[in-house]
Amino acid sequence: MEISEFCIKTRWWFLIGSFIIFLFISDLSFFGLIMLVLGIIGFVNHSSTNRTNYSLPAGFDYPDKVKKDDFIKCPVCQKGKIKQDNEKQNIKNCDNCNAQFKKTNDSSFKLSIKNCEEYKDYQYANCDFSISEWNTIALTGKTLRENTLEQFRKGDVPNISDQKVNSPVTLKSNEHFVWGEQSQLHEPRAVRNYGGGSIRVAKGVRIHMGQAESHHEMRHIDNGFLTLTNKRLIFSGGQRSSNIDIRKIMNITIHTDGFKVNIENRQKPQFFSTNDSEFWNALLTGTMKHIN
Ligand SMILES: [Zn+2]
Repeated sequence: MEISEFCIKTRWWFLIGSFIIFLFISDLSFFGLIMLVLGIIGFVNHSSTNRTNYSLPAGFDYPDKVKKDDFIKCPVCQKGKIKQDNEKQNIKNCDNCNAQFKKTNDSSFKLSIKNCEEYKDYQYANCDFSISEWNTIALTGKTLRENTLEQFRKGDVPNISDQKVNSPVTLKSNEHFVWGEQSQLHEPRAVRNYGGGSIRVAKGVRIHMGQAESHHEMRHIDNGFLTLTNKRLIFSGGQRSSNIDIRKIMNITIHTDGFKVNIENRQKPQFFSTNDSEFWNALLTGTMKHIN
């Protein structure tokens, strides 16, 4: 049992007990007074830290210098060490199960398990991940994305540290990153169609014939980075940015290539393109559920 747990369990007894001692045993009033003060300190301390504790999956606190540069251990067998191949510069091998990692760019490796019969059904075979993702799998058995979803299922809002989300957003107090990725912002724009065509009367002046019909079309507005925190959904683009309070989201519509949010007091919905809209739906609904 940790000290904090001990305090939580015993704080009431501490407070009541010390108060009784203080009141009735006048000879020990100094002792009682100290007990009372300690009790109050413990009680106040506990009350102020009694907020939802967002925990990271076990193993997420591994040192950053290990995480980015090299494999901690083999994600396939979880026992072996990943060592540099003797002949090929871009290959690393597990010294236990012979899993092979081929460098695909600066920090990404593609796994080949053709040499390890024992793990031929390994779920991440042929996946191309960054070293930090492989290390996440080695430590937790799951990708960062899968860990994030599991956190929501357990009833927590995942907290992803600054290093894992390369977001341009500056966090406010009591705010933390939940997820972030490259995205595009689209907004509806009114487009008018004229049934009868148009006649040019002067340079740049046209007279439209027939009845005008207008409809809305989703227009690409900007490319940028989409960040979800435990409080906000933020799009940071080169030209346009959008800062949405999670509490003001009225509904989310999922499309194959992204999702659309309708926001309180805003006429236009916003559409954000994402790689995995189902995942974003889970993130947003999960975060919205926990906010108050
Ligand atoms: Zn291995």
